[in-house]
Amino acid sequence: MKRVYNFSAGPAVLPEEVLREAADEMLDYQGTGMSVMEMSHRSKAFDKIIKDAEQDLRDLMGIPDNYKVLFLQGGAHLQFAMIPMNFMKNGVADYIVTGHWAERAWKEASKYGKANCIASSKDRNYSYIPDCSDLPIDEDADYVYICQNNTIYGTQFHTLPNTKGKTLVADVSSCFLSEPIDVEKYGMIYGGVQKNIGPAGVVIAIIREDLITEDVYPNTPTMLQYKIHADKDSLYNTPPAYGIYICGKVFKWLKKIGGLPAIKERNEKKAALLYGFLDESKLFKGTAEKDSRSYMNVDFVTGDKDLDAEFVKEAEAAGLSGLKGHRSVGGMRASIYNAMSIEGVEALVKFMKEFEAKHTK
Ligand SMILES: *Cc1c(COP(=O)(O)O)cnc(C)c1O
Repeated sequence: MKRVYNFSAGPAVLPEEVLREAADEMLDYQGTGMSVMEMSHRSKAFDKIIKDAEQDLRDLMGIPDNYKVLFLQGGAHLQFAMIPMNFMKNGVADYIVTGHWAERAWKEASKYGKANCIASSKDRNYSYIPDCSDLPIDEDADYVYICQNNTIYGTQFHTLPNTKGKTLVADVSSCFLSEPIDVEKYGMIYGGVQKNIGPAGVVIAIIREDLITEDVYPNTPTMLQYKIHADKDSLYNTPPAYGIYICGKVFKWLKKIGGLPAIKERNEKKAALLYGFLDESKLFKGTAEKDSRSYMNVDFVTGDKDLDAEFVKEAEAAGLSGLKGHRSVGGMRASIYNAMSIEGVEALVKFMKEFEAKHTK
């Protein structure tokens, strides 16, 4: 068996330990004689799995009691619609558009009310996070929306926007659990888990209770109402049970290695290694502006499309997988999520150095 260093942006690398445990439990989960995939979501065993997962997540993030934790489906994309359907009580929301996913969320919200784009970094191909200290927040805005880590462009909010008292809603799909955060600064934090936590098919939403009401957009489908899921503890209908089980294992893994302060330290070390090399490289150049750089997704180019393609090809052959950049930036992207080891990043930097030596005179 050979495992590669997987730099894919998502679905992405998971801790090997978690995968091994899941493999061990595949045919007989803790004496139940069945796999978690085959188990009723109303069973005692699954009840414990989902309750433990929620509690471990609460412990890791320090989620206050007045926030609900929901396990949902439909990807981050469904949240682009559910958020305005559930939260636009005045019919107004402000969006900070820092990339493809924020733009998608903004466009979707405009179907349900007045969605303002109050700041954007489109002018320089989303290579930076705009100054959000004094934005024209709409007086009637029900919330201010951000995509905290821009997976495609490799930028990240390192300071939260000044929302002037309005509720902050954040898509954290690609930086979920990558560092400690202050949950109380947000009204809602959500993300698809397939970037930094678990298998595709699960979305985790952490929502302050007072925002969860029956007052939703007219004819909002039952399944798209947060209150339905909150009242039933994410078991209104069949949840993505196996995915939740794997997420739970990843939470336990994070707790074991020291929680979010420890993973933050690791993530900073990995990012420093890679950005440090990019800053001194004669061949490779990072595309994100320095003060907006993401700790999770590192975008870089050589400036020559054919050479980029050659790099991706040779890297793949050397066991460094998933480095092709998104078509809207081109070049390369190394996603260095929680489960990517320091050794993986060291191997990448070593390979880049060798490639550079071969291709520069
Ligand atoms: C991948 C990604 C999305 C889209 O997620 P889906 O689960 O495919 O809908 C949205 N936001 C961010 C930040 C992402 O990284």
